[in-house]
Amino acid sequence: MTELTRRTAADLAEALAAGDVTSVEATQAHLDRIAEVDGDLNAFLHVDVEGALAAAADVDARRAAGESLPTLAGVPIAVKDLINTTGQPTTAGSKMLEGWIPPYDATVVARLRAAGLPILGKTNLDEFAMGSSNEHSAYGPARNPWDTARIPGGSSGGSAAAVAGYEAPLALGTDTGGSIRQPGAMTGTVGVKPTYGGVSRYGVIAMASSLDQVGPMARTVLDAALLHEVIAGHDPMDSTSVDAPVPSVVEAARRGDVAGLKIGVIRELGASGESASGFAPGVRARFDEAVAKLAEAGAEIVEVSCPSFVHGIAAYYLVMPSEVSSNLARFDAMRYGLRLAPEDARGPSAEQVMAASRDAGFGDEVKRRIILGTYALSSGYYDAYYGSAQKVRTLIARDFAAAFETVDVLLSPTAPHTAWKLGEKSADPLAMYLEDVCTIPANLAGVPGVSVPIGLDDGLPVGAQFLAPAMADDRLYNAGAALERLVSAPALEEVVR
Ligand code: GLN
Repeated sequence: MTELTRRTAADLAEALAAGDVTSVEATQAHLDRIAEVDGDLNAFLHVDVEGALAAAADVDARRAAGESLPTLAGVPIAVKDLINTTGQPTTAGSKMLEGWIPPYDATVVARLRAAGLPILGKTNLDEFAMGSSNEHSAYGPARNPWDTARIPGGSSGGSAAAVAGYEAPLALGTDTGGSIRQPGAMTGTVGVKPTYGGVSRYGVIAMASSLDQVGPMARTVLDAALLHEVIAGHDPMDSTSVDAPVPSVVEAARRGDVAGLKIGVIRELGASGESASGFAPGVRARFDEAVAKLAEAGAEIVEVSCPSFVHGIAAYYLVMPSEVSSNLARFDAMRYGLRLAPEDARGPSAEQVMAASRDAGFGDEVKRRIILGTYALSSGYYDAYYGSAQKVRTLIARDFAAAFETVDVLLSPTAPHTAWKLGEKSADPLAMYLEDVCTIPANLAGVPGVSVPIGLDDGLPVGAQFLAPAMADDRLYNAGAALERLVSAPALEEVVR
C-alpha cells in the first residue's frame, strides 16, 4: 500500500474514479505513512484518523451508489493549523489556542469537505504564521524530509514536509510574505500563492489581513491546479473576496507551453549585478539553467528592473507587524483561548489577566512583532513608519504594473538559499527576515506567485518563482507546468529513502 502514497493527486483521482482503489485504502495508506514517519518530521500537530476514514468511507459509498463526484473526491489532504476546522483543534501553532476547537469551518475547509477530500489532520507552522523556518512553532519545529537536521521552511513548513515526505498528496498553506512558496522551495514541492482575494480568508486565523492568502501545496503543478479550483472563487463571507470567475488553472497546467511567452527575469532579485551576490552560488546555477531551458523551449527571456523591490522587506516589516498588532489584540483571555490569572494577584483585574495570559500564551517572535507594530502605529510615528511603508507598497505595485506591460510573467529564484540547519539563524531575526526578499513583493502588491522545484544544490532542493498579474493565476500554472517538465527535478524517493 505504500505505493499509494507515492502517487500524485491527479493519478489517485483517476484510480479512484476507475474503481481501482477506494478512498479508504488511499486514506489509510497515508495515515500509515504518517504513523511511520511523523515522529521524525513533526509535520502534523493533530491527526484525525477517525474523521478522515469516515469521510473516505462516505465518498466510497457515494461512488458505489453511482453518484457523480468532483474530480478530487476521495483524495486525502492535510490542512495548515491556522485554518478553522470543526471537530479538530486549531492552534495556530500557539499555546494561546492550545486545544481550541473552532465552532465553524473556514470556507476553504467547507469546500474541501463538499468536494469529498478526507482531511488527514492539521499541520505544524510558525506561531500565527510568523517565520520562515517553522522553528517558531510552540509545538517544536517540523523537519525537512530531505534532511531532518534542516528546516522545511515556513511558516507552512508542516504542510510542505507532509507533502514532500509522502504523508499527504495535497495540503493547504497560507502565504503572507512567502509562507507557501518558500517552504515549497525548501522541500522540492510546488506551492502557489493565489491572487489576493482569489481564495476566501473566512475562518483563517488572521496574521496580516491585507497580505494573507490561502493556497495549494502539492508535488506537481497539475495537482496544485486541481486543488486551486476546489478552494478558489467568490465568498460573500470575506469582504475582500474577488467576485470574478476563477482563472482556468487546470487547463493551463495541462497545457504547460512557454513557446512565445515573454518572461521577465527580475534584475533586483538575483538576476545580475550586485543583487546576485546575496544568493547562494548553487541557487544561481540552478536558476540560470532553468532560464536557459525556458529559452530553448521558445520563451522570450528579457531582464526587467523593478527598482522598488529592494525596499520590500523594510515596507513589509512595518505593514505586517502593524496589522499583526491589531489582529492579535483579540487574544485578550476574555473571549476564547488561554486564560491565566497572575499568581501573585488576589482578585486580579482584567488587565492583569490579559497581561499574564499574553505573556504565557505568545512566543518571542509574536511578541516582537506586536511590539513593533504597536510602535509603528503610535501617534507621532504613524506617518514616518506605517505611512511611508504604504507609499513603498504603492511603488512596488507600480513596478509590477510597468513590468507586466512588457512581459507575461516574471521569474526569480524563490529564496536566496536552500534549507538551513535547525538553529542556524535563530539568534538573528533579521537574517531570517532577509530570506523572504524574493517572495514579499507579491504579497505587498496582491499578485499571484508559484514556486516550482528546479533541481538540487548539494542534495537540497532549489525553487524558482513565477509571478503574474492579479487574476492571471492561469499564467503561473502554464509557465510552472512547462518549467516542471523541462527541469525534471529529482523526487525525494529517488534521492533519500
Ligand atoms: N516569513 C515571513 C514572515 O515571517 C512570511 C510569513 C508568512 O508568509 N506567513 O513574516
